[in-house]
Amino acid sequence: MHTIRAAGNFQSCNLVLDKIDGLKLRRLAKLILMTVREALAEGRFAMKGSHTPELDTALLLANACKLDREHLYMRLSESLDNTIVKEYRLSVKRRISGEPVAWIIGRKEFWGRDFSVGPGVLCPRPDTEALIEAALKTMDEYGSKARLHDCCCGPGTLALTLAAEQPGWNISASDISSIAEQYFERNNQSISNGNVKYFRSNLLENVPGQFEIIVSNPPYLTPAEFSQRKKLKWKEPALALDGGDHDGLNVIRRLIPYAWAKTTKNGTLLLETSPTQMHEVLRLLSDAGFKNIQYRDDLGGIPRVAIAKKELA
Ligand code: GLN
Repeated sequence: MHTIRAAGNFQSCNLVLDKIDGLKLRRLAKLILMTVREALAEGRFAMKGSHTPELDTALLLANACKLDREHLYMRLSESLDNTIVKEYRLSVKRRISGEPVAWIIGRKEFWGRDFSVGPGVLCPRPDTEALIEAALKTMDEYGSKARLHDCCCGPGTLALTLAAEQPGWNISASDISSIAEQYFERNNQSISNGNVKYFRSNLLENVPGQFEIIVSNPPYLTPAEFSQRKKLKWKEPALALDGGDHDGLNVIRRLIPYAWAKTTKNGTLLLETSPTQMHEVLRLLSDAGFKNIQYRDDLGGIPRVAIAKKELA
């Protein structure tokens, strides 16, 4: 007599089913076990408050099944092992409580690479692609391989992407958060062979040396915007998002003089900020002595990256 045991994954579940003698037992198993289609419907119903229930449920179930989404959709009528259903339901609960899908599945794709992320760290966002584009162009301007530092690096979104795109540059990164450091180190190994040097530092306080380029995606939400997100149950940390002061610019105000001191005399600073702050950020950069101050839009066509040069004779 065959029994249906909880198997480790989706494939083995179906292997177990294949081994069952007789049509009746197979049909019975299908009645007991949930299908992919049913699990997706259950998840979508539970997540009806979310903006993207369809996508979220598919990503969570695909992750529990160790499949990609395309393959999951090709197997809608297949039965799911109970351990998979359990893991999936748990992940749906975490999503409903406000955790980003990326935290739950443990990774987020950015610029074609998978970043390891989880509770306590900022997930890479498409907003930040504009800074990568601008930084790559700036790196080309310097022509030869030089030094670049990523301040407030989180899981390494900027530093590691740039290190992978421009091998040979001397790239370092820093962040104040010990949780970010753990994710950074993991990503450093998987994305750039551990080549990026890391400093735990409050802004650039403990970072030695001078840099041709400094990039930063610092926290810049206003406290009001951040508490609005809290109300919507967002879980990403204040340390990575709340810029402080009434206008969200406290961290940027403190960072600009540090960046001035740590850039070489022809150095460039590239900062991510929000469109509503751009005007003030450009003014702060000018007040600090930077020249040739410009901004770039993000993919949504809104001002997102401030670029400033030091240009000392
Ligand atoms: N652009 C991010 C957001 O809107 C904010 C990132 C940041 O504060 N550095 O979620």
